[in-house]
Amino acid sequence: MKTKISLFAMALCTFSLLAQNMNNVQMPEITRINSRKFINVPNIMGYKTLKCDFHMHTVFSDGQVWPTIRVDEAWQEGLDVIAITDHIENNPSKKFVSGDDNSSYEIAKPYAEKKGILLIKGAEITRAMTPGHFNALFLTNTNELDTPNYMNAFEAAKKQGAFIIWNHPGWKAQQPDTCKWWDIHTELLNKGMLHAVEVFNEQEYYPIAFDWCNEKGIAYTAASDIHGLVENLYDLSKNHRPMTLVLATENSESALKEALFAGRTIAWFGHFLAGKEDYLREFFKASIKISQISDKKVYRVVNVSDVPFILKSTDGTQFTIAAFSESTIEIPVSNKGDFEVVNLIIRSNKNLSVKFPF
Ligand SMILES: [Zn+2]
Ligand SMILES: [Zn+2]
Repeated sequence: MKTKISLFAMALCTFSLLAQNMNNVQMPEITRINSRKFINVPNIMGYKTLKCDFHMHTVFSDGQVWPTIRVDEAWQEGLDVIAITDHIENNPSKKFVSGDDNSSYEIAKPYAEKKGILLIKGAEITRAMTPGHFNALFLTNTNELDTPNYMNAFEAAKKQGAFIIWNHPGWKAQQPDTCKWWDIHTELLNKGMLHAVEVFNEQEYYPIAFDWCNEKGIAYTAASDIHGLVENLYDLSKNHRPMTLVLATENSESALKEALFAGRTIAWFGHFLAGKEDYLREFFKASIKISQISDKKVYRVVNVSDVPFILKSTDGTQFTIAAFSESTIEIPVSNKGDFEVVNLIIRSNKNLSVKFPF
């Protein structure tokens, strides 16, 4: 019986090979199913939470990929918005890649529209310290920023209505021993030419920059500043690229711009969130659903976000609410319920405080 079945299977197989063009036998089963991840973050305060990366490079500056690859990566990772921010002043591939400062956007834009990714026109003003490197977003003509005097570049960006971010303020190549806010940054701020800072860039963060955001009224951002492939730098099976969450009325360029100028942002890097206290409190509240399952302070906790929450109390009680899952936690009867969420940062030396049960 066995022999009969295998002979029959072989005959079928031969038949199916003969039915095809023998010079071209396709094996779709070995290819990857092209899919988009979901990033789970709650919408809060009546806004939609947009997942954004405002800093990345292509072969049109010192990056290693063609602009459309940035769209594919963002789509696969579940982002909503990206800005390609090629260096205006640094293009080592110029000999091999023609075009100008608008080219990476122009190439990627039609593809981004097709994939449903909002692509913002941006560029990196790349100067020595001071003032350093800055991303200008919502540009209309990047070529106008290509000018010897940096203040002329900032003026051109402002004229185009740009939102301007100070990038990697504590980058060791520019500030080896410190992360200092200089007089020029106050001047740019006063002239309406500085609206945000990267508190996190690629794989490093700058605690002092959290305080600048609060004291100077600028927005928190986090970005990948990716030059090669995203998946070569970050372990995407366990983590996500650094990104800025923007609380916008809708997913559109005008709503995004309004939200950024209003400072409605949260920086997300690793398992940390950094931002204004009220935004982080609302994010935490919207992520957690809690119910008591016994009168001995045992609780069922559901976390609907991809951010874990690590809680610590002054009496030494400590627990983690795992990301996007359900946990059971037991609080000692003596505990008063005052907790600090150690991975939600509201100042360089202060985390979000919450009262249990939340
Ligand atoms: Zn830079
Ligand atoms: Zn950069």
